[in-house]
Amino acid sequence: RAKAAGGNRFALADAAADARAITRHGLTTALPAALDRGEFFIEYQPLVHLGDGSVHGAEALVRWCHPQHGVLGPDRFIPLAEHTGLIVPLGRWVLEESVRQANFWQERHTDGGPLRINVNLSPTQLHHPNLVAETVDVLERSGLEAGALCLEVTESALIGADDDLLKPLRQLAEMGVDIALDDFGTGYSNLANLRRLPVSILKLDRSFTQGMQHHPADPVDLKIVEGIVSLAHSLDLAVTVEGVETGAQAEQLRQLGCDTAQGWYYARPGAPDRIHSLLLADAV
Ligand code: C2E
Ligand code: MG
Ligand code: MG
Ligand code: MG
Repeated sequence: RAKAAGGNRFALADAAADARAITRHGLTTALPAALDRGEFFIEYQPLVHLGDGSVHGAEALVRWCHPQHGVLGPDRFIPLAEHTGLIVPLGRWVLEESVRQANFWQERHTDGGPLRINVNLSPTQLHHPNLVAETVDVLERSGLEAGALCLEVTESALIGADDDLLKPLRQLAEMGVDIALDDFGTGYSNLANLRRLPVSILKLDRSFTQGMQHHPADPVDLKIVEGIVSLAHSLDLAVTVEGVETGAQAEQLRQLGCDTAQGWYYARPGAPDRIHSLLLADAV
């Protein structure tokens, strides 16, 4: 996957080859110092309206610039950080940094409508007792309005969620923070269960988009996406699609009624400057 991604992903591909030599243990023990030394950084991937391709926000995606192994993608270290609990301070840093960044963009594009920032939350963060207080604190200190923040939680993290787990998400949703169900369609959640969850956005997993690479697309795949979109809309949920790599996919998904999209066709994850220039370009 990293190889096909090309561009700045070659660093990830090299790291992946190198990875055989790196023990999980080595990476795990290096994590806390890496956070102290500022070895993590965030790339931002634009979120666009499928109708006209205009940018309405960005997803924050964390990377680790490891002094020996180069840039490591989140799949390499998030599970380790999750396992040791370091995800809590790391996730706090990601939230703080990306909210600060979003506020910077916002202040320079006041006429461009609200600009959203999407931040991923892992299950441990979801269970953490300070989630709501810390999120409120980060928003207050940055000046970003709650309505500009979207927290992404995976479908699997919410499977079988009881009220204790949903309560903080409900509180955040009441404050105006959007909750998105990430990687939707990969878990086995009961669709009727969606009603119970304080989510306002479904992020349709990349696997659905990939199924549309072939021409003509599998009619059963199309029916499934169409069904999900109509169910989502009937529940007042917006639908974002992940992993849009071609114009044909974008057009297909737009026709199926999806609202917003994200993928290499529009832009790969990149430095914050890129979002800044996309917004400037949009504003003209
Ligand atoms: P995700 O939240 O589902 O993020 C989307 C992933 O799809 C990203 O991978 C993104 O680079 C990739 N992607 C975007 N467009 C395309 C496309 O057109 N084609 C293909 N093939 N891939 C595309 P990435 O950056 O490697 O992140 C992987 C996962 O790591 C994320 O999946 C998310 O679950 C997790 N993650 C990333 N940053 C954070 C974070 O700050 N905190 C937590 N807890 N998890 C994070
Ligand atoms: Mg996500
Ligand atoms: Mg996703
Ligand atoms: Mg995904």
